[in-house]
Amino acid sequence: MTAPFEYVRVTGEADAALDTATPGTQLLAGGTTLVDLMRLGVMSPARLLDINRLPLARIEETTQGLSIGALVRNSDLAYHPAVQARFPVLSQALLAGASPQLRNMATTGGNLMQRTRCAYFRDVGVPACNKRDPGSGCAAWDGFARQHAILGGGPDCIAVHPSDMCVAMVALDAVVHVRGHYGADAAVTEREIPIGDFHLLPGATPARETAIGPGELITRVTLPATPFAARSAYVKARDRASYAFALASAAVALHLEGGKIRAARVALGGVATKPWRSREAEVALEGQAPSEAVFERAAAAALSSAQPRPDNRFKVPLAKATIVRALTRAREAV
Ligand code: SF4
Repeated sequence: MTAPFEYVRVTGEADAALDTATPGTQLLAGGTTLVDLMRLGVMSPARLLDINRLPLARIEETTQGLSIGALVRNSDLAYHPAVQARFPVLSQALLAGASPQLRNMATTGGNLMQRTRCAYFRDVGVPACNKRDPGSGCAAWDGFARQHAILGGGPDCIAVHPSDMCVAMVALDAVVHVRGHYGADAAVTEREIPIGDFHLLPGATPARETAIGPGELITRVTLPATPFAARSAYVKARDRASYAFALASAAVALHLEGGKIRAARVALGGVATKPWRSREAEVALEGQAPSEAVFERAAAAALSSAQPRPDNRFKVPLAKATIVRALTRAREAV
């Protein structure tokens, strides 16, 4: 049963109640992760701060790229003409995630803060979970780990980051903009976090998942206008054709010139503890002709440091095939 909590709706950026630093506070946007975890008893905030009325739901196209407000719904972002034309990998990734109903609710900021689907994390009857209860152990490490990470994990946590959107944003060099709110009288601070630094590896502290600090609020995400964003693709392998999390996914982007790959981005989902950029794959692609043999070498490089558990060895060849397919689609995109 959900524990009692205070519900506060803020009406604007000057609202004194917009104090995200108060211990026990959780921000409520689309609620598609938070409400779920509250019902399961995994999260029990003392105070829910509903930020849905903040003016952060705009998508703005600029010569530098695209600015996406933190409260832009996943559906609105996926179908925005500029996203479909200039950043197709992002539209494809968003439409590969969840269901239409969930995409209508889920927000850009909430998707960045999405929490793992590790079954042990979501079951409060399982005592060992370092992410839910620091220092308690990891039930997945010696348990059934078919869905778990083969990159970026260790004995303290091998939970997969579940987002599709974030994988595409990694391939697009996104930047997350955050603002510090410490109550009505305190100074407001702003900073930018490259998406590659936003999600943290679990290391010995799996409960700390992002670089965002207490009292900070995501305001927007910007996508730079890069020469590779338009020739991009997202491929997702999963247990069923819709409404399932990735077993492996790949977001790729290519800048082709003179029959060669001038620049490449390769990011992986479903296989790592954070949205995973593979610089090894990018190095293997750059300067080469975009052939299947080159794509296969890049895919092998991306998985060269994989450390699967006994139940998820299949993810290594699956992820390789996903990368090759995504690169092939990007090569053929107009
Ligand atoms: Fe918890 Fe991470 Fe282990 Fe899952 S993999 S049980 S989230 S510590």
